[in-house]
Amino acid sequence: NERIVAGEMLQEDAREETLRPRFLREYIGQDAVKENLRIYIDAARKRKESLDHVLFYGPPGLGKTSLAHIIANELGVNIRVTSGPAIERAGDLAALVTSLQEGDVLFVDEIHRLPRTVEEVLYPAMEDFAVDVMLGKGPSARALRLDLPSFTMIGATTRAGLLSAPLRDRFGVVLNLRYFPVEDLSRIVLRAAAILCVEIDTKGAHEIARRSRGTPRIANRLLRRVRDFAQVIGDGRIDQELAVEALTRMKVDAFGLDELDHRILLCLIDRFHGGPAGLETLAASIGEDAGTLEDVYEPYLLQSGLLSRTARGREATAAAYAHLGRVKPVTEA
Ligand code: ATP
Repeated sequence: NERIVAGEMLQEDAREETLRPRFLREYIGQDAVKENLRIYIDAARKRKESLDHVLFYGPPGLGKTSLAHIIANELGVNIRVTSGPAIERAGDLAALVTSLQEGDVLFVDEIHRLPRTVEEVLYPAMEDFAVDVMLGKGPSARALRLDLPSFTMIGATTRAGLLSAPLRDRFGVVLNLRYFPVEDLSRIVLRAAAILCVEIDTKGAHEIARRSRGTPRIANRLLRRVRDFAQVIGDGRIDQELAVEALTRMKVDAFGLDELDHRILLCLIDRFHGGPAGLETLAASIGEDAGTLEDVYEPYLLQSGLLSRTARGREATAAAYAHLGRVKPVTEA
């Protein structure tokens, strides 16, 4: 049940490594984030100190992992990559941080999923560059403090709200990644096409970009799929006509919506007269879990102005009616 327009990493994205920008200058878009990072990185290098801890938050597929690697590359240090759920016990974290070298980057994806017991070990590690390991058990147990090299912790999360306040406060730099505008995505598609040796014109790239839901990962995935169509039904080249044909066959519409998005909006429009409908009610009507609807399906619909969230529930906007070719009922005053 994989969505071609999912922001999360799919199996077919495994080769996206080759497309990953390595340095800040190769990373397209997110100018505010890049400018800040440039300054912090240069300052850390000048002072020959480790960079302050950095937290990235924003929807999946916008480049948090890429930026973590870029920071390590720019600093010329090693990066260790792990994720919140992979660090199960306090000891796992202690083993990780004690293996770091001076200035290294420790990247923890999905940091909101770190177990609480691990979080407590992380506080002194981030603040004082030290870990307390317990020796022995019961009454004879004692704590031994181990000094760590100063390192940079980079956390990434799609759910900043789920981070505990003490953990959030330990990040000196907090950066929000936003959906990319179509112009930036077009450049990302052109860059990826050049790396993959795909022939594409600017209109073709623009067509893929506008259907990529503001997300570079989706843009790269759609490009790879459209390339398949180009090779089979065309002459290998991607222009606008071919991109439209391929994406229509893949059931990705002009706004990048797929059948599931249509189902959500049409359910609101047809069954609830456009809303408002409560989250739970709407979720039950389309047979999805309320949390998934809220965290995974809704953000892009909200961002693209097709759905609005009011105190009374979810509503389909006039733009949604227009996009789906439905007539908005006239509401009586
Ligand atoms: P997740 O949190 O789901 O792991 P992410 O936000 O960490 O996602 P990345 O893995 O960094 O996302 O990015 C996904 C892919 O998008 C990368 O492999 C890269 O090819 C591409 N990408 C991301 N940002 C850019 C960019 N600014 N320029 C070019 N390509 C980019």
